[in-house]
Amino acid sequence: MSVPLRQQLTVGSYLIKQKLKGVKKYPLVLMLEPLFRCNLACAGCGKIDYPDEILNKRLSVQECLDAVDECGAPMVSIPGGEPLIHKEMPQIVEGIIARKKFVYLCTNALLLKKRIKDYTPSPYLTFSIHLDGNRERHDASVCQEGVFDQAVEAIKIALEKGFRVTINCTLFQGETSEEVAKFLDYAMELGVEGVTIAPGFSYEHAPHQDVFIKGRDIKELFRGIFKIGKQRKWKLNHSSLYLDFLAGNQNYDCTPWGNPTRNVFGWQKPCYLLADEGNAETFQELLDETPWDKYGSVKNPKCANCMAHCGYEATAVEDTLRNPLKALVANFRGPRTEGPMVPEKQPELAETKSSIKDIPVKIES
Ligand code: SF4
Ligand code: SF4
Repeated sequence: MSVPLRQQLTVGSYLIKQKLKGVKKYPLVLMLEPLFRCNLACAGCGKIDYPDEILNKRLSVQECLDAVDECGAPMVSIPGGEPLIHKEMPQIVEGIIARKKFVYLCTNALLLKKRIKDYTPSPYLTFSIHLDGNRERHDASVCQEGVFDQAVEAIKIALEKGFRVTINCTLFQGETSEEVAKFLDYAMELGVEGVTIAPGFSYEHAPHQDVFIKGRDIKELFRGIFKIGKQRKWKLNHSSLYLDFLAGNQNYDCTPWGNPTRNVFGWQKPCYLLADEGNAETFQELLDETPWDKYGSVKNPKCANCMAHCGYEATAVEDTLRNPLKALVANFRGPRTEGPMVPEKQPELAETKSSIKDIPVKIES
């Protein structure tokens, strides 16, 4: 884990407080989406398929800060859309930092060179730059040539100015372990603080549906990456048990309330990834009225293949608190890359037994 000590201590003490208070469902990272508008149209994006009237909507500074206060999570991730398009983003970031929350401003970096003067380096602010791989891979992923070079230039500028910088990498079909390993080597050469890495979620609203990796292929890919990683010193911004989960060694249920999402519609049920399940007006309403039991990769076909950190990192953190020894071992030896994977749970819907007596029969006399 490459996160600075100050952040680890803050998050650690927050977790202990939740445990001492006996809170069952607590948020870890607020996903704050103040707009859906973006200056790219990536093949695997599930966020930009809205009519103009929605894409033109923005959360105000006050709405954003109210969401931060209401939720209380120690970390705030600001994805989108492209947050740097939002004219009041510097005030939003400033307000969150004033509350001593750790902000991850997720950007494709096209506007970063121009807008970086509006921000001040702080231990509470990290630019999380979207890079899905080396030049060819990333430009193909974002469907535009030249974006990789602009993002790398922006990373160098931000690092030079003293900002915390991480890379946010999503993996899609056709990746090989060797290719991803080379990219991670390159990311370390750039000098970023860490890399967040996860398989792309099969968004129903994504323009291309054939780009997502599925099922066992995801775990095989990660095993291959981690096998190479045993000889490297990559800094991955995840808990050791989440990485072990990606490698097929942990059978986790999703914890969607760990990363609650506030966007222009309200508090999105149940998570950042599913867009058509309704919204709550307040964070408390989200907690109280979302039918949480309906969600998770074995419970809901919409969740099939999901191994996203916004659903499973909070589960891994909870497991770390319950089984610190197991987490310590996973941290020490790294994700296991050999031997059998944990058996996959069978989809609960498929288990529903039907019998001949359930088939409606029309009897005519
Ligand atoms: S994935 Fe990110 S950068 Fe690409 S279109 Fe969607 S919001 Fe924009
Ligand atoms: S498994 Fe969890 S995080 Fe993934 S889509 Fe379903 S509810 Fe969301």
